[in-house]
Amino acid sequence: MRAEFRPDEAMVTARPQELVVIGAGVVGMATALTLSDRGHRVTVVDKADEPGRGTSFANGAQLSYSYTDALASPATLAQFPQMLLARDPAFRFHSSLDPDFLRWMLAFVRNGSANRFRRNTLAGLALAVRSRGALHALARRHRIEFAHGTPGKIILYRSAKSFAAARAIAADKGVAGAEQSFLDADGAVAVEPMLALIRHGIVGAIHTASEEVGDPYRFCTGVQAALVAGGAEVRCGVAIDRIDADGKRPTIVLNDGSRLGADRIILCAGLESASLARTLGARLPIVPMKGYSITAAPGRAAPRVSITDAANRVVFARLADRMRIAGLADLGRRDTGVEPDRLAALVGSARAALPDAADYDAIESSWAGLRPMTPDSLPIMRTIAPGVIANTGHGALGWTYAAGSAERVAAIVEEEG
Ligand SMILES: Cc1cc2nc3c(=O)[nH]c(=O)nc-3n(C[C@H](O)[C@H](O)[C@H](O)COP(=O)(O)OP(=O)(O)OC[C@H]3O[C@@H](n4cnc5c(N)ncnc54)[C@H](O)[C@@H]3O)c2cc1C
Repeated sequence: MRAEFRPDEAMVTARPQELVVIGAGVVGMATALTLSDRGHRVTVVDKADEPGRGTSFANGAQLSYSYTDALASPATLAQFPQMLLARDPAFRFHSSLDPDFLRWMLAFVRNGSANRFRRNTLAGLALAVRSRGALHALARRHRIEFAHGTPGKIILYRSAKSFAAARAIAADKGVAGAEQSFLDADGAVAVEPMLALIRHGIVGAIHTASEEVGDPYRFCTGVQAALVAGGAEVRCGVAIDRIDADGKRPTIVLNDGSRLGADRIILCAGLESASLARTLGARLPIVPMKGYSITAAPGRAAPRVSITDAANRVVFARLADRMRIAGLADLGRRDTGVEPDRLAALVGSARAALPDAADYDAIESSWAGLRPMTPDSLPIMRTIAPGVIANTGHGALGWTYAAGSAERVAAIVEEEG
């Protein structure tokens, strides 16, 4: 039976506030529980029928605390022509003349310099380090079960050039606290024996023994139970039309016209945060990057350690007794449908990377989700209108960053209190 959590005195805030959190994905749920634990009265509102059904649902499951490399980098910019010509199976670029998209692209290119890439990656690392401690504390305090484990992670490199580039930023991350060891092919096989089958293709690898995995959907439903046990409210199946911050108290306006006011509103609506912020006159630089995942039984050479194959751009994680495999980056796609050719591309990349990792002929479920990308790959955690705080735009690392960004936003709520 779940032990009901009572906040201790040190955690309780000076002035409890009435808070509405928009969005019940990993970010909104971690934020809601962090705030509820600090003594605030929290209501979570989500249009889906249950928490965790958005981009958080079946993501790659990796809590990637040491691998926070920003997407915009000199290497990504160099690959742009290949991407535009659809020659890289992992990437698709859906161009648009929408001014927000064009502005985002310009900002993305500006973030692709070596200096900005380094700065953004290290800022992500600082958030990830904070996030690890914050997630552990939430899980322990509320006994949330979400197939959480520490299998470690190996990133495989199949060219000397990409391994050298990874080592360069890894050295900086090492100084900033990331734990990583550099391995040759034999070293990688010693850590994960199932890599023996592809040993010939490995030029180098980076291993982090402390990397974790966890099921984001189970985390969201576990947090829901903890919130309700602590007296918070989780209202699902309720779509928000707009946010109103003109009056004395910020207010959400639901699709049926009813209104809900609060001392503060925390916007955690993932990709859709941008359109909700627009109703306040605020502009959030977030565009979708669609990705896919499959879940299947482990194959005869399924790794225990999480694997990221840098060349095939695919990630593997063992989640309890299943393999979760994720990848693809379709920038600008806004629909969540599973397209057969893109699913086939993911399965093809996975087979090329680790041919026997999963039972590829009996895939149990396939899924697509929209990563809410910012140009610098860092989440937006700031006040965007009187009484409205954004915690959104977590891109490819929202599961990793969720608990840390929840703490940052809790600090903003209380500073402004
Ligand atoms: C293929 C893939 C693999 C990934 N792998 C990893 C990984 O291994 N590790 C990692 O750290 N990250 C990973 N990510 C990224 C991660 O999944 C996202 O960054 C994260 O899920 C974003 O969480 P969120 O809570 O901000 O958004 P969401 O989970 O999308 O939650 C937003 C919620 O807001 C609700 N909402 C939106 N608009 C409204 C409205 N108008 N009214 C009411 N409710 C609304 C939605 O219903 C939704 O539930 C991956 C993403 C993809 C697509």
